[in-house]
Amino acid sequence: MKKILSIILFLAIAFTGFAQIDTDDNFFEDEEDEELADADSTSIEKVVKIAVDTLRTKDKYTNVILYEDQTWDYLPLPRPGIDSTSIYDRWWNTESLHAYIGYPKESIPDEVDILLVDETHGFKVPYKTKVHSGFKWRRKRAHTGVDLPLDTGDSVRVAFDGVVRFSSSSHTGGYGGLIVVRHSNGLETYYGHLSKRLVIPGEPVKAGEVIGLGGSTGRSTGPHLHFETRYKGQAFDPERIIEFEHGALRGSLFTLKKDYFNIYSHYGQSEKQEAEAKAAVVAAKQAQYYKVRSGDTLSRIASRNGTTVAKICKLNGISANKVIRPGQTLRVR
Ligand SMILES: [Zn+2]
Repeated sequence: MKKILSIILFLAIAFTGFAQIDTDDNFFEDEEDEELADADSTSIEKVVKIAVDTLRTKDKYTNVILYEDQTWDYLPLPRPGIDSTSIYDRWWNTESLHAYIGYPKESIPDEVDILLVDETHGFKVPYKTKVHSGFKWRRKRAHTGVDLPLDTGDSVRVAFDGVVRFSSSSHTGGYGGLIVVRHSNGLETYYGHLSKRLVIPGEPVKAGEVIGLGGSTGRSTGPHLHFETRYKGQAFDPERIIEFEHGALRGSLFTLKKDYFNIYSHYGQSEKQEAEAKAAVVAAKQAQYYKVRSGDTLSRIASRNGTTVAKICKLNGISANKVIRPGQTLRVR
């Protein structure tokens, strides 16, 4: 019965109230005014109101609360905003390309809504072109960004407003000339293989500002920009937020899932592929290795480790008649 009542109420609210959420900016204020006007005569009644249920609306940040006396109210929830101050207070490091080393990954929620841009904080694509190589496992290492082909000397632009956290061409591993910018929206972006860096750590930057020139420094086979997006130090596929070929954001609000911090997880995957990506990480964590001893054969290794030759071949990307040598390491799980 209660459920039916809820549905009737929900439908009634849907027809009377929802349109106003989108069109009437002052809707909540009007509501408040009414409540204030009523306050004198109905204040006792207000105090004893008992909430029996909350319902979602098409606006993620507004719920409807139902009371026992069959009245209802909108319940505004906290909306994500762009924070221009506290993001630069903690885990700030201008000496190292990674600032969040030791940050407790478990404290990151399973899902976090990030407002990428608003009226005062804009966006500009770092370099507008088709992605050459994406966020994936590539040649025995994780490729934690996208490669954007360019000509050496081309302008590279900062994606969002922020402050330069790191700018160096030494001790950057394979990145070569690297700039890292922390943004007011909570993300960090990385710009690698630069031939010239035009900003220094601590320098504030506005979206679209030229921060460096493209190149092929570091571990690179030709001129391109290696671009990364990170949250609390964890890389996720930049194509989840940026459509590089058209130089546009996919949306102003981005729901970042913890599952995205996974080299097998990328933009455009089906639910099935996403599940496979999760399973691949679990399997990688449970990986077991075996060091080949003199006289070993694949079939002997397989039986000793309770597996099959076919499975070992698949895990190591080898064929069943591959010659194995003592001292060599094979993955058996
Ligand atoms: Zn790259």
